Amino acid sequence: MKILVQKFGGTSVSTPERRNLVVEKVIKSIKDGYHPVVVVSAMGRKGEPYATDTLLSLISNDFKKDNLLSTDLLMSCGEIITSVVLSDDFFKKGYECVPLTGGQAGIVTDNNYNNASVLKVEGEKIIEILNQGKIPVIAGFQGMSEEGYVTTLGRGGSDVTAALLGVALKAEEIDIYTDVDGIMTADPRIVSEACLIDNMSYNEVFQFADQGAKVIHPRAVEIAMAANIPIMIKNTMSNCQGTLINNLGHHNNNIVTGITHLTNRVQINVKLDDNNENKSYDDLLDILADNCISIDLINVFPKEKIFTIDSKDHNKLMNIMETLNLKYTFIDDCSKISIIGSRIRGVPGVMAKILRTLNNEKIEVLQTADSHTTIWCLVKTPDIYKAINVLHKTFLIE
Ligand code: ADP
Ligand code: ASP
Ligand code: MG
Repeated sequence: MKILVQKFGGTSVSTPERRNLVVEKVIKSIKDGYHPVVVVSAMGRKGEPYATDTLLSLISNDFKKDNLLSTDLLMSCGEIITSVVLSDDFFKKGYECVPLTGGQAGIVTDNNYNNASVLKVEGEKIIEILNQGKIPVIAGFQGMSEEGYVTTLGRGGSDVTAALLGVALKAEEIDIYTDVDGIMTADPRIVSEACLIDNMSYNEVFQFADQGAKVIHPRAVEIAMAANIPIMIKNTMSNCQGTLINNLGHHNNNIVTGITHLTNRVQINVKLDDNNENKSYDDLLDILADNCISIDLINVFPKEKIFTIDSKDHNKLMNIMETLNLKYTFIDDCSKISIIGSRIRGVPGVMAKILRTLNNEKIEVLQTADSHTTIWCLVKTPDIYKAINVLHKTFLIE
């Protein structure tokens, strides 16, 4: 049996017209000889009635904080609604579907509500449905704990559902349908000149996704990579070829493959001279780890420690520093730009060119770091769109 997982994101299922396009794509795959397994997200984006953020707005933040189990149950409803509504769209065209919750589809998770990890996927029910000649339409983003409670897999988690099912069912391919033509050299909402990348390696896409390109969830890339199942990113609203993600990656000569960014970073600076004789200065990174504060862009000098944290952790950090009597300074409202390319390694002058490009535009660079495949620059958030556009022009257009 040739199985194809086809996942459709929120915008792809938001209107009857778009759902008709979804139905057409699935029917085409049946005509091409595949057995499709359909995975869906909640309809639309924030503000639209059944979108995940809209459902979340129905309950108070205080309740959410202390009632993660209830919050997961509420958040799971959006995808369940889509699975039934889309089944009706297929029904109108003469195709029989079986809509399933994540739990019914065999996705078993731990009980880490809001961000559950998958323990196993029991694919028998889906195979049974396929053998009956029906289309399983599975609510993405959710599973069920061993105790029988509904869990969710983290925001953007329908991609994770698609990858998990693709691996469990030994699919030929995992198709992620969204509202852009594929993975582009930058977010097309920010850079109008962004170009489609036709083929990328799992590793490069993981970097992209992990560093803020929300076009696919990083965990979905890891899951497919481990089983070497190709992923295609495609546009529901066009017939564009899309981006193929596999082991090989792209073959052009560009040093840089693309640019992405993460907002909501705060730069923290702790100086030895301000904290002389405070023993906690030496243990600071351990203390932050013990308090589950994740740090990055970490530069440790003999008399100074500089790093960034997510802004949601800043209050927690502030309290810790106050308790330990540690003095520090910070710059908030920062964004981290990632300039990604597996050919960056060993090419002289890339960092110099980045800094020259940003300096020419009077964009202050607060910090940098680099690895074999990525160069990171921290800038103030108000500069971010301009910075990405000029870097894109320099490295990907000229
Ligand atoms: P879906 O609801 O289909 O899962 P998402 O909103 O999660 O869609 O992801 C698609 C969005 O990802 C696009 O609308 C685009 O703005 C954004 N995006 C960010 N970076 C990129 C990139 N490099 N290439 C393509 N899209 C990107
Ligand atoms: N609806 C969920 C979210 O908004 C999952 C997804 O869209 O992938 O995060
Ligand atoms: Mg998404």
